[in-house]
Amino acid sequence: MRKLPTASELLEEFRNGSLDPVDHAERVLGEIERWEAKVNAYITIEAREAVIAQAEEAEERYRRGEARPLEGVLVAVKDNISTSFMPTTAASRMLEGYVPPFNATVVDRLLEAGAIVVGKANMDEFAMGSTSEFSAFGPVRNPWDLERVPGGSSGGSAACLAYGGCDLSLGSDTGGSIRLPAAYTATVGLKPTYGLVSRYGLIPYGNSLEQIGPMARSVRDVALLLEVIGGWDPKDATSLRVKPPRLSALEPAEPGSLRLCVPREMVEGAEEPVAKVFWRLMERLDSEGFEVEEARLPSASKALPAYYTIALAEAASNLARYDGGLYPRGDVEPGDYWRHVAEARARGFGWEVKKRIVLGSYVLSEGYRDEYYVAATKVRRLVRDEVLRLARRCVIASPAAPILPPRLGERITDPLLLYAMDVYTVVANLAGVPALAMPAGFHHGLPVGVQFMAGKLEEDRLVRLGLFVEELTGLRGVAAGEG
Ligand code: GLN
Repeated sequence: MRKLPTASELLEEFRNGSLDPVDHAERVLGEIERWEAKVNAYITIEAREAVIAQAEEAEERYRRGEARPLEGVLVAVKDNISTSFMPTTAASRMLEGYVPPFNATVVDRLLEAGAIVVGKANMDEFAMGSTSEFSAFGPVRNPWDLERVPGGSSGGSAACLAYGGCDLSLGSDTGGSIRLPAAYTATVGLKPTYGLVSRYGLIPYGNSLEQIGPMARSVRDVALLLEVIGGWDPKDATSLRVKPPRLSALEPAEPGSLRLCVPREMVEGAEEPVAKVFWRLMERLDSEGFEVEEARLPSASKALPAYYTIALAEAASNLARYDGGLYPRGDVEPGDYWRHVAEARARGFGWEVKKRIVLGSYVLSEGYRDEYYVAATKVRRLVRDEVLRLARRCVIASPAAPILPPRLGERITDPLLLYAMDVYTVVANLAGVPALAMPAGFHHGLPVGVQFMAGKLEEDRLVRLGLFVEELTGLRGVAAGEG
């Protein structure tokens, strides 16, 4: 274990002149060189000269006193977020070589804030997965233990933070894809309130569930990044008409200022080492003056099947657009239309994606729609009502994942075991509320993460609590490796 500077600390050093953005960029590029062959966190890495040129520009701006909020900070962007200056593949052969003609709104906001996009992060194909093994460009490995997965689907975004190959990153979270990788790499990830961050330019998987969100090596950093990317965007019809949240200057929560609820349904299935680390943290918080009480969230036990029903239905509809026409694969013979489409889809999609298209089409099909899809939307309403009710009283705490990071290959052979990894995270997506995952501790060198959930647009409560927890655990800025 070692400590690396957080983005907030770097910005401070850039401002007071004790560190040059160019020297820093060189250091990060060095880490990428050292780790990337083993970890595979990136699908595309920006050319060295381009990174250095941007860092030089940042240096110049600091000299002139014109530095912007993220000036010179190196950011990794998940590869399902559109960039007009780098390919955007969503880790699928279907989109190999595709360079979008526009930037996602969050990318424009990053660039306007002076950030340098250092690369596009590896992920599960179309964000479908929990381990980052379903990438057409090879699996991502966990820097803390290369035999293990970093969680998914934003595994690359988390892994590059954990080895020092970026200062901040963007992930997307449909059912836990920011929080599970954060938990498995001892980093911090926040899934914002639905509608707080623009999805314009995000390659869609489950539109009604997903949000782009910040990932970092500290709570203050995710607050800072969310401040930059959040707020109303006229290009996304589901975006809320709210100003960017003000979070980066918040102070840690005062003990006694809030209560924590641990729903029994969101901890009872956790394996022992996870439960142990989690409860130890809860006990410490309790003795610090944050009252911790056990609670009930009965619908949480039905959240997982409801989530997968809705997510797959939306996935099947979303992925219907890939017919090999608009995004030609090049290796498909022209011929009759349907054969062309079938061939393009057979070659372009991976196995997991195909499975989900079939399942999603099934739950939407005539005769089964009410039984599955409509039933799932009813469960979703139950979950939302229960979560909102509980969140009025307390911040909801649980482990971020029920198990420690599994070994590669260990989970993907059994879909039910794989999907069960998301049991604690999907609740926040169904409810549309914000959720923060951050390090709780370690078990034999493996990271264990805690999750906090609050009511809609209560990101400030999560940040304040997170800042306190980070001080308590002393795990701000931790990274894998020696030194
Ligand atoms: N593991 C979940 C799924 O595969 C969540 C993925 C995500 O949040 N993008 O659907």
